[in-house]
Amino acid sequence: MAIRTIRTIGDPVLTKKCKEVKAMTPRLETLIDDMFETMYESGGVGLAAPQVGILKRIVVIDVDDSPVVLINPVITEQSGEQTGPEGCLSVPGKAGDVTRPEKVTVKALDREMKEFELTGEELLARAITHELDHLEGKLYVELVEGGLYEVSAEEEEQEQP
Ligand code: ZN
Repeated sequence: MAIRTIRTIGDPVLTKKCKEVKAMTPRLETLIDDMFETMYESGGVGLAAPQVGILKRIVVIDVDDSPVVLINPVITEQSGEQTGPEGCLSVPGKAGDVTRPEKVTVKALDREMKEFELTGEELLARAITHELDHLEGKLYVELVEGGLYEVSAEEEEQEQP
């Protein structure tokens, strides 16, 4: 496994729509392992493939020590609303308030390319919707209400999708 370089805002790779994964390959297996390692190293709770420069529909999330890989994810249900601070490993040192669904259900493939469903509430729902936006080439800064603000390095350790 290896730590990959996280692309930051301004990098055109973050504004592109990602392609579906057709088949699992050793290369993609390595990518997924590297994405987890890179996310843990950076103190994030989620990371999307375009954040490490790969335009594939792959997301890793770990909220509350439950690592999950979402391949070709699609939201099938969403309900409620939550507004709260959000950050992004691709927008270092900043945060902003974003409204997201309170609860989402997502259909995706796991690393064996088997379909499964995941329902998340609160932070997990926020992480899922944030990471799926990355696959469409969207950053949370477009959704921020009231502008971005600076966060300290310690605050940044927590809850960065
Ligand atoms: Zn992000």
